[in-house]
Amino acid sequence: MSQNSSTPKPDLVAIGDLLGVVEEFIPGSGTYESNGKIYSSYVGYKRINRQRLEVSVDPIKKKEIITPQVGDTVICEVVITRKQSAMCHIFKIKSHFLFDTYTGMIHVSNMSQSYMNNVDDGFKPTDIVRAKVISKNFTEYELTTKYPELGVIYAECANCGTVLQREGNQLNCPLCGYPNPRKIAKDYGHVIERIDNLH
Ligand SMILES: [Zn+2]
Repeated sequence: MSQNSSTPKPDLVAIGDLLGVVEEFIPGSGTYESNGKIYSSYVGYKRINRQRLEVSVDPIKKKEIITPQVGDTVICEVVITRKQSAMCHIFKIKSHFLFDTYTGMIHVSNMSQSYMNNVDDGFKPTDIVRAKVISKNFTEYELTTKYPELGVIYAECANCGTVLQREGNQLNCPLCGYPNPRKIAKDYGHVIERIDNLH
């Protein structure tokens, strides 16, 4: 957001600080409204746009680098599949896109609650997967997709690259019909979070 000339020295505000009332301002980004009052959603700088009569808050940029922790739900892209494990690049934790990617491994025994013989029966390279971190060894994270909410949330046909569509618990290629077995998350096809890998 551009610096507004009417606010030469931005005010630092905390979460829940009162910024104004709806009679004065439109609640902008980084704010929320309750009973006609506008509050800050972030620790950040209060901005007032006099032309639009809008108050907003620019969150302070966090200096610390966020890294995956055991127990985190992460979003990753499958890079390589082997018989016993899939290697992934973790690029998002909850709603935070990461500055770097981290290497995750999903062992075939952690893919699904039902038995899977082969990683290829559940994942293919370029699939976007929601997984949970179960342990960390040096720079490598061990992941699981054993629960219904975990698994593939976006996949393209291994044959022609068309985005796969869900029919029941199966994925089908609407273009070529090539078989595309996947271990999908229960919300495949209804995922609303942004999954774009910005790298
Ligand atoms: Zn296809």
